[in-house]
Amino acid sequence: MARNIILKIPAKINLSLDITGRRPDGYHTLRSVFQTVGVFDTLTVTETAPGEPMTLTCTDSAVPCDARNLVWKAAVRLLGDAPCGFSMQLEKHIPSQAGMGGGSADCAAALIALREMFSPETDDAALLQTAAGLGADVPFFLHGGTVLAEGIGEVLTPLEPLKPCQLVIAKGSSGISTPEAYRRIDTLGTPLPDTTDAVLDALHGDAEALFAVCGNHFDAVTDLPEVCTIREIMRAHGIRPVLSGSGAAVFGGCTDREQADRCTEALRKAGLPFAETVLTVPHGITAERVGF
Ligand code: ATP
Repeated sequence: MARNIILKIPAKINLSLDITGRRPDGYHTLRSVFQTVGVFDTLTVTETAPGEPMTLTCTDSAVPCDARNLVWKAAVRLLGDAPCGFSMQLEKHIPSQAGMGGGSADCAAALIALREMFSPETDDAALLQTAAGLGADVPFFLHGGTVLAEGIGEVLTPLEPLKPCQLVIAKGSSGISTPEAYRRIDTLGTPLPDTTDAVLDALHGDAEALFAVCGNHFDAVTDLPEVCTIREIMRAHGIRPVLSGSGAAVFGGCTDREQADRCTEALRKAGLPFAETVLTVPHGITAERVGF
């Protein structure tokens, strides 16, 4: 039987995101608490005949299925220029240009599956280094759960995983350009309030107290009409909206499932293409193996 791995890949939100400075090389330094959430892509890797060139298909026609895809890049970086002997199918549910790390998460999943099938000699440290070379958020997804990111996002400290919390997450059809969002932060005259320390203090107490202190510096420079609509609808339902990453997804912690569902319904009625009631998840990518 041909070997086959199916990976369930969670998205992330940032419970906090403080931009703390800018290095001489132009990279911004940050402090952020990353958290995996229950919006999942699925990557299936299936062994084919040896020498058969790698193929990639995707359920979302807007996502490129060639060397531009981070899953493809992961295969080349791990296995060399012309990977062969397997096919990959990507089922997308994580919205793009959302600040939910969709491409980075898929990339980490490809590294995990392909190491197991074709490169068992790659140790964890080498895999982490390969991940870091593919994108700033990729190493986080090798771990998942609740993680403090510092430096330019490369210094990761895993934290005790958050117990499942009820959220609503929404995104409009427009995305946000990350470089443009950083440019706007750079031109702000006044310093923005940091929230990472307050989030770290509140992580394992009452969920309501945690979601009362979550924050993101990019909220101050993000005024897309759809983001403003999401904020208004969440507030009208008693939910405090916070941007994820550099946007354009917005999340809010809810007191219970009913509050989340009512808000999700209102967001969908307002025409938002992505609105979900979800839980935080205390783990990263999970795998199901067949034929091993
Ligand atoms: P982040 O939270 O890291 O900022 P993002 O919200 O910008 O991520 P992604 O899903 O990573 O969103 O997609 C950004 C772009 O990357 C897409 O427009 C797409 O063209 C490209 N891309 C490359 N690989 C993938 C992938 N596996 N899934 C989705 N998009 C991908």
